[in-house]
Amino acid sequence: MKILLRFLASLLFVAACWAAPMQDAVGYADAIAKINDAHAKQPGKSTEADLAKMLPASAKSALQRLLASKPTPDLGPALLRAGEAALDLDQMTDFEAIRKQLLAVAPDAAAKLGNAVSRSRFIVRGIGAFEAGWLENFADVFDGILAGYDEVFGFKEFSKIPGKKLRVRVHLEAAITAPPHFGPEFPWHSEIDFPVADGAKFSSPTEKGQMLFYGLCHELGHVIAMWGDLKTMEDKHAWAHYTGVVLVEHLAEKAGEKPWMATLRDVRWRSLKLERENAENKVPPSTATVGGVMSLLMALHDAVGPKTMGAAINRLDEQNRNRRVNHVRYYSFADFRKALEEVAPDKKAQIAKAFGK
Ligand SMILES: [Zn+2]
Repeated sequence: MKILLRFLASLLFVAACWAAPMQDAVGYADAIAKINDAHAKQPGKSTEADLAKMLPASAKSALQRLLASKPTPDLGPALLRAGEAALDLDQMTDFEAIRKQLLAVAPDAAAKLGNAVSRSRFIVRGIGAFEAGWLENFADVFDGILAGYDEVFGFKEFSKIPGKKLRVRVHLEAAITAPPHFGPEFPWHSEIDFPVADGAKFSSPTEKGQMLFYGLCHELGHVIAMWGDLKTMEDKHAWAHYTGVVLVEHLAEKAGEKPWMATLRDVRWRSLKLERENAENKVPPSTATVGGVMSLLMALHDAVGPKTMGAAINRLDEQNRNRRVNHVRYYSFADFRKALEEVAPDKKAQIAKAFGK
């Protein structure tokens, strides 16, 4: 009996040891989820740095226990869980400590966590065996594109949740089988999924002709604005194409000398100039076809300018004149037109002409 009890006690002890790392990881992740949930409900003016200050001491000590934990079978999954949570609140010091520990105790889980670079407006997470400096270079490209958007359109808020940095999840694959896409499902921030096949350098187009640079510019167009609703897609998928080609053309002209532009040559195939020459776009402006919407957007581009178009979107946001699906902003062309007239009252005639009525 005594032996049996001792055996049961030792089993319980082993079970407790196994559970401890995951319990601490969950404690840390739950505290971050709570902060992010509350922020998503009422973003106010808090930045991600403000939110980080709300992380309770209990969560920090749970992480310290986890980092000091002896190897157990669930230590890898537990550290992975905590590492992903750290990224959800831009806790890069925590992320680095977790990643270091994972590399030592569970290389498989470390590969799943990947590496990350945090900049003032976004976090790039890279999953796969990227060469040193790859993610930093990609972050330079993304910073350059965001600066380009500032210069051309001046959109005030990129993330669907104000205050939260954008996320890009770059993953290295044997081959790119799907284009980059904006994932609307993430509850706390806007995230772009970005498959690549070359972990040595980021270049575009790829050998297979995939326009990754244009793709990144295009996806940011979706992050900024969707049109109609989930079913109607009022812009016929023209808006992100329009902002994408505008940005590629702008950066080729204004940032061509930047080191990060050296391997990006999409402008030869993707530009506003080419869209102007495209026969499909030489139709009256309308929201009936993709060519019609391109015609409308290009007419506005020429009549009021992209800065005014950006100001109209900013105005719609300020006044909450958008529909939110998963927090993603959906606008209507009718509201957009009214907002354009509000921000550029002296250009009503040009706006009417651009809308074709
Ligand atoms: Zn798209």
